[in-house]
Amino acid sequence: MGQEPLTVKTPIADYLDDLLDDVRDRDAGAVADYIPDLAGAPTDRLAAAVCTINGVLYTAGDDDVEFSMQSISKAFTYALALEQHGLDKLLEIVGMEPSGEAFNELSLDDATKRPMNPMINAGAIAVNQVIDGEEATVENRTETLRRFYSRLAGRELRIDEGLVESELGTSDRNMAIAYMLRSYGIVRDSARDAVESYVRQCAVMVTVSDLAVMGATLANGGVQPVTGEQIIERRVAQLVQAVMSSAGMYDAAGRWMATVGIPAKSGVSGGLLGTLPGQLGLATFSPRLDAQGNSERGKLVFQRFSHEGGMHLMSAETFGGAPVRVVKVVDDVTVFVLQGSMDFNGAEVFLRTAETHEFRTDTVRIDIHRVNRFNRIARTMTLEGMRRMREDGLTVQLLDPEGVLEDPDLGDGTYPEIVRED
Ligand code: GLU
Repeated sequence: MGQEPLTVKTPIADYLDDLLDDVRDRDAGAVADYIPDLAGAPTDRLAAAVCTINGVLYTAGDDDVEFSMQSISKAFTYALALEQHGLDKLLEIVGMEPSGEAFNELSLDDATKRPMNPMINAGAIAVNQVIDGEEATVENRTETLRRFYSRLAGRELRIDEGLVESELGTSDRNMAIAYMLRSYGIVRDSARDAVESYVRQCAVMVTVSDLAVMGATLANGGVQPVTGEQIIERRVAQLVQAVMSSAGMYDAAGRWMATVGIPAKSGVSGGLLGTLPGQLGLATFSPRLDAQGNSERGKLVFQRFSHEGGMHLMSAETFGGAPVRVVKVVDDVTVFVLQGSMDFNGAEVFLRTAETHEFRTDTVRIDIHRVNRFNRIARTMTLEGMRRMREDGLTVQLLDPEGVLEDPDLGDGTYPEIVRED
């Protein structure tokens, strides 16, 4: 070996390059032209980024080009509104059902007279209004949002003032929506302020890397994976991704979920953000849009990534393996060696194996030195299983050198015998 240390390069960035090369020449679709500033944007830009929940970022293409978040901002504003007001309060102003309609439809739920969901403009304008409460000014509210998005991205993001002006000049449709919301008491500000506040959130500028990190934060239960900061409550992150999955892709949301299966949110500037809960955030940028307003080449990148990467949320691939590695008798002790990540299914296999086992020793040892984690339900089930073993007359030992089952209270204030080694 030479003096220089050897380094290896992961193939993931090359794979992203390859995904982009595959779609680079596709020229279907057209840029959104109802906002003058977007109509003039170069159409051939193309970029992709993936951020894992471990905070590792892979990028390809025009990854340093900034574009406006547009509708992608809706998902994060909804997250902040949920943080500030809670779900019950928000459900009073915006529903959670897919609308199946275009993003800028002048529509409300027939029965409740609320916007159907926070991902269409009517819902997003309503949600924007509750940030920092009714008394907040447009400036304060949008500054709160800009800062919130910046924490999620891990860098200071800016609002493109030129774009705000440009969009405000052509926002009759959104003004009509704001007047409609005012007439039902959902919006209290002037229609003009409501639209300006919403348009300002849409004009926050990001790169694909920013979006991938923001998405990974949702996928990571609200913990920004690079800084390690818990920015969004776990339950809120879950809610936001659920709403993205049913309503994030405008009127193409159902088909998207069926064929691609990655919760996603698109914006009319050509950005597309996807999240895979527990795995990663994925973002693409390519400005030409299909008839529903979703990025043409972005969609193709997502499709291939989903198919080849086994990323469809409903793919039902399991990685649990065999949670009970072996049951053996060592020195008059029956030892259950568990392994891997324990979830409901893993714990169920353990409990069932224990139930059908004929014990020929007085002592049982649960050896979890090969288990890397228990989720909450697996922990509860495993400890309860151990409590019952003791109730049935066995002496119960736990071998857990890494402390994976922290504080193994069997649920009645008692503990198993802790053993240090085999
Ligand atoms: N600012 C845009 C609008 O309200 C966002 C729409 C979108 O990205 O779908 O028209």
